[in-house]
Amino acid sequence: MVPLGIFGGEKEENLSSYLVSATGKNQFLCLDAGTINAGINKAIENKTFNTDENTVLKEYIKAYFVSHGHLDHVSGLIINSPADSKKNIYAIPFVKNILLNQYFTNEVWANFSDEGAGAIGKYHINAVEPQKIFEIPETNFKAQFFELSHTKTHESSAILINHQGQYLLYLGDTGADRVEQSNKLENLWKNIAPLVRNKSLKAILIEVSFPNAQKENLLFGHLTPNLLNEELNKLAFLVGKEHLKGFNVVITHRKPTGKNPEIIADELKANNPFQVNWVFPEQGVKLSF
Ligand SMILES: [Zn+2]
Ligand SMILES: [Zn+2]
Repeated sequence: MVPLGIFGGEKEENLSSYLVSATGKNQFLCLDAGTINAGINKAIENKTFNTDENTVLKEYIKAYFVSHGHLDHVSGLIINSPADSKKNIYAIPFVKNILLNQYFTNEVWANFSDEGAGAIGKYHINAVEPQKIFEIPETNFKAQFFELSHTKTHESSAILINHQGQYLLYLGDTGADRVEQSNKLENLWKNIAPLVRNKSLKAILIEVSFPNAQKENLLFGHLTPNLLNEELNKLAFLVGKEHLKGFNVVITHRKPTGKNPEIIADELKANNPFQVNWVFPEQGVKLSF
């Protein structure tokens, strides 16, 4: 995995986007696309990639997954579309509609999709219903979407990637079930519990946007360290606490205001009831699971 961007706002050069490929292959699925170009350049600078930015954009990235419609998850994809090659975008139907009706409109941007008025035909946007298992051409990945609640009015989603029986789970922005008055995370935990138990799920990427001091009525569909632990407690109940020990939990989408990223990391390290392995990604620095 190569993070192209890791924050949840403000830093336009470093917003949520994670490239994932099977080891040794340059066949990446791009999980969200807040930042693309600046992340590719950082990865080249770090010698994570030994090629030029055009090759990474046009040839290494085979497809995109867009978790939800917010700008910090799509702006890199939109801005880089003229330089990109023809490829697939995958999203739940709610998000496909946002891409077509709010971004590829010929008004805020040219219609780089292959449908509707003035279609340039670069991107084929595949709407896939939650829970349905599908294949992503050129990557050898199978995938499955799950719905997430990101405030009452905004649907977000998670993707479970399967590469020959090895799994990775990436969540877009989400609130906790109790705060959102939802059961969408509970449903997700039930679905992945067998994969945690048999150790085939290698890592989950999940957001923690705010420190614990953030008031629950001001979370806007996001998690804090305490709320993440509240959710992991439900997963622990399903899989058995011993199965979470050392489990890779990659923390995404920290809001970069002030010292928030450091505070969030400190709060997670200070309170780790299930002894999971918190991972704090860095832009352009490869992670292996
Ligand atoms: Zn976001
Ligand atoms: Zn969002």
